[in-house]
Amino acid sequence: MTTVPQNRFRRSPLGSDAVFRRLVDSVEDYAIFMLDPRGYVATWNRGAERIKGYSAEEIIGQHFSRFYSQRDQEAGRPEAVLRAAAEEGHYQEEGWRIRKDGSRFWASVVVTAVRDDDGALIGFGKITRDLTERRQAEQRYRLLIERVTDYAIFSLDARGNIASWNSGAERIKGYSAEEIIGRHFSSFYTPEDRAAGLPQKVLATARANGHYEGEGWRVRKDGSRFWASIVVTAIFDEEGQLTGFSKVTRDITERKQLLDEIRRHAQELELQVREREATNADLESFSYSVSHDLRAPLRAIEGFATALREDYAAILDETANDYLDRIGSAAVRMNRLVHDLLHYSRLSRLDLALEPTSVHAAVESALAQLTNIEGIDIRVPGELSVMAHPPTLAQALSNLIGNALKFHVAGRQSHVVVAARPLEGKVRVEVSDDGIGIDPVYHERIFQVFERLHAADSYAGTGIGLAIVKRAIERMGGKVGLDSSPGQGSTFWFELPKV
Ligand code: ADP
Repeated sequence: MTTVPQNRFRRSPLGSDAVFRRLVDSVEDYAIFMLDPRGYVATWNRGAERIKGYSAEEIIGQHFSRFYSQRDQEAGRPEAVLRAAAEEGHYQEEGWRIRKDGSRFWASVVVTAVRDDDGALIGFGKITRDLTERRQAEQRYRLLIERVTDYAIFSLDARGNIASWNSGAERIKGYSAEEIIGRHFSSFYTPEDRAAGLPQKVLATARANGHYEGEGWRVRKDGSRFWASIVVTAIFDEEGQLTGFSKVTRDITERKQLLDEIRRHAQELELQVREREATNADLESFSYSVSHDLRAPLRAIEGFATALREDYAAILDETANDYLDRIGSAAVRMNRLVHDLLHYSRLSRLDLALEPTSVHAAVESALAQLTNIEGIDIRVPGELSVMAHPPTLAQALSNLIGNALKFHVAGRQSHVVVAARPLEGKVRVEVSDDGIGIDPVYHERIFQVFERLHAADSYAGTGIGLAIVKRAIERMGGKVGLDSSPGQGSTFWFELPKV
């Protein structure tokens, strides 16, 4: 490559007409050629040959109207273009032109009138670009947008007046393109939003941030409202000047209604849960204080009944002694009730710290709490552990095993089996007996406080044992249930997370 020293530049051959001509000749992307004043082709470059398909020899001396379609020729377009260029000095347009092989291309054309020093027209310079691909891409894109019906896609000029409108916009907002183009987009806003200046804020935000996204009520042509999700994008030209906005709007009324409904339901549920929690909390603190406060007078009844029997048994007759016995055992029973109730309410008040707990060890300590433990078969693998609060687990087991022993068939001791096995990440523990069994209609009820199926003189008890079991297991993250029917014995089971 040769370099041209700066000081010799002015005099360099690069300034000559011949060099300039060579430059024009070698341009391939533009057809650059000259016409004489009547429109006959005078020069031809490589770009012209490439775009229009004629070689220089073929075309020089031919009239340029052959680049136009038959229709344009008949309408006098070629002459009109030259006239306009001659009058204005310069003429520019886009339109279809014809190649040598008859095919069409979309041309961007600039025609410049060339005059001599005296102002006499000596010809025209013509620069043509082939924009077919760009036009096709634009057209495809425009068609695509026009055919979209689920979204309103339209454009605004820089002041917010509507410049284009697709079929989705017509469907969603109800206006045809003819009705709405040219009108300001604030017509879609509610009077309240318009008064608050929302349309202006939307455009200002889009302008400042490049885009704006939001949801809100919008108004259709018929005055009805819909919940819109909108995206506004600011469009800038190469110089950074705002040229307008594109706007995409979706009608999401149904989605919003659904969401609102779900939200309303959730709020109602939350309210109910909170009310129930409040009631439960009230009940618990009530039963806790009742249990506490009942124990003092009970102790007094028990104490004085004992004292009466010890000190006055001799001077009381048999009936009076019998009454005293009944007072004493009623007090004992009452005491047990209060004790169990206290235990039950404490279970929901205390935080149970869970730790890996051996099921076998829990069964052992449950048995230690029971008195008559004959006829029990323990089938619990030593290595099985669950996450539990050890004393609470032992208490639950003790209640279940105690019941299994207690509710035996009259005159026959029950055979009780305590078994445990792993089951899908949990451990299932079962306490089975061959006792009296329970009708399935009572299976839920017996887990409630004070629910018993028998009179106190046939089977002793307070009716709190199973309520304690259920609450204990559930507070440790497990669940309880039973399989039982009258005469078939019962299997109470619970599951806790396995370690
Ligand atoms: P309690 O044993 O103090 O009566 P529970 O809450 O432990 O109270 O039990 C409630 C009721 O469930 C019992 O009164 C009894 O009717 C029934 N029940 C519990 N366990 C068994 C069982 N293993 N076999 C038959 N019935 C049972």
